[in-house]
Amino acid sequence: MKVIDSHIHCGIQNSDLPFETIRCYLASGNIQGACLYAPVEDIYNRYNERFEDSQPWIATRQRANEYVLRLQETNQDIFAYYFVWNDFRREELKKGYRGVKWHRHEYEPLYNYDDPRCEDFLQEVYRLQLPVVLEESFENTLYMLRRIDGRTPVIIPHMGGLNGGFTALFQAKIWDEESVLADTALATPYEMDIFLKRYGSNRLLFGSDFPFGYPGSELSKVQRLKLRDADYEKVVSTNILKLMRALA
Ligand SMILES: [Zn+2]
Repeated sequence: MKVIDSHIHCGIQNSDLPFETIRCYLASGNIQGACLYAPVEDIYNRYNERFEDSQPWIATRQRANEYVLRLQETNQDIFAYYFVWNDFRREELKKGYRGVKWHRHEYEPLYNYDDPRCEDFLQEVYRLQLPVVLEESFENTLYMLRRIDGRTPVIIPHMGGLNGGFTALFQAKIWDEESVLADTALATPYEMDIFLKRYGSNRLLFGSDFPFGYPGSELSKVQRLKLRDADYEKVVSTNILKLMRALA
């Protein structure tokens, strides 16, 4: 079985997170592969709520996405996500990205949800059946889940810890929809346990959110759940490999 970390940030522009570093952390945690996305710092200025997009930022974003795409091309079991922002470059998606990262916290600049390019972008995401890692405010998470409406898989990172909280999302029944998954990055074993009891092991993905969590220590949280072998294998390996369409 190949253990895959579904949530790692990797980039070398405004953050110092080169793949060489990540490879060491994966190896030391006995983890064989990872889904990589750019660091937020290479996508937009998260510290300025009134941030306006600009050519230099568009270029930085493009390089950041291309960096992880190149790593996918040259490394086995590495999967590149396209980190989208308000330029909504629909034509990039078919270059081989395996998923889309959508990310915003409260008090960060907004996605232009009403821009026609946003809808065009989403249509291409549905066509290519790319999973979307959706991190947004609680209200925008519910909005996006309604808008996507099961047309492509959606992964809620941190089991919702930064989307309004696990309990709020659990009570809103967002995971009653079969196409909505969760990753375990920085979540508690208690939350994982509640999720697994209610929804089973088909829709939970091991992830670390490196550099905010460490792959080996986040994996050990999943191991402490003492799952049956078949369930453990789904959470740390087969669920994400299925989504990446990379199962042998
Ligand atoms: Zn993250």
